[in-house]
Amino acid sequence: MRLDKLLEQEKIGSRRTVKALIRSKQVRVDGQLVLDESLNVDASLQEIFVGDKRIQNQTHVYYMLNKPQGSVTAVKDKQHQTVIDLIEPNDRREGLYPVGRLDRDTEGLLLITNNGQLGYQLLLPHKKVAKRYEVVVNEALTEEDQEAFAKGIIFADGETCKAAELTILSTTPNESHAYLDITEGKFHQVKKMFLSVGKKVTYLKRVSMGPLILDKSLALGQYRPLTQKELQSLL
Ligand code: URA
Repeated sequence: MRLDKLLEQEKIGSRRTVKALIRSKQVRVDGQLVLDESLNVDASLQEIFVGDKRIQNQTHVYYMLNKPQGSVTAVKDKQHQTVIDLIEPNDRREGLYPVGRLDRDTEGLLLITNNGQLGYQLLLPHKKVAKRYEVVVNEALTEEDQEAFAKGIIFADGETCKAAELTILSTTPNESHAYLDITEGKFHQVKKMFLSVGKKVTYLKRVSMGPLILDKSLALGQYRPLTQKELQSLL
């Protein structure tokens, strides 16, 4: 983007004002004084200063991803495909990171953004952002399991979980389907909760996080920008 356009967009001043600032030698790009207002710049890659104020591109992006199994919830990984690798190079990738974490073998809703503040807010434990998981386990699920989850599971190491709601969708002696609603984000939390009632999770998918609900039209590995309505519900 043109330097004068960027400075105007970032509310440094009108086009006329920013041109005057540039001509009066108050603007530096990557340490170099710039006098050409038409210079093409990228605020997410370059250091742009007006006087001592750093200009950062405030354009935030928000993607809803249907994470497939096999990808890791990280920005970079030497061995595995990351969730950021799933973002097309033509879309803006710089500065993107996943909000929260899903295991490599977990599917489903992941928010990807470059708005660090929003991500931080959504992960604060006291905000108790609700998450719904679709779960398949290798045994029957019972009312006792529901009660144990509602009381708050205690892991073998003494760590305690807040009350969670288990909705049994179908159950047989060797396979059960359920929804689990939790308000925390402990490491491997869902798998550990089921293990503590003696059941192994064989499939896990996150279907909602706070007000965001996984868009059913997204195939595994696909993503789309949040709608205005979804974004408003998060901000
Ligand atoms: N709980 C888990 O055990 N795994 C996940 O990926 C998410 C929640």
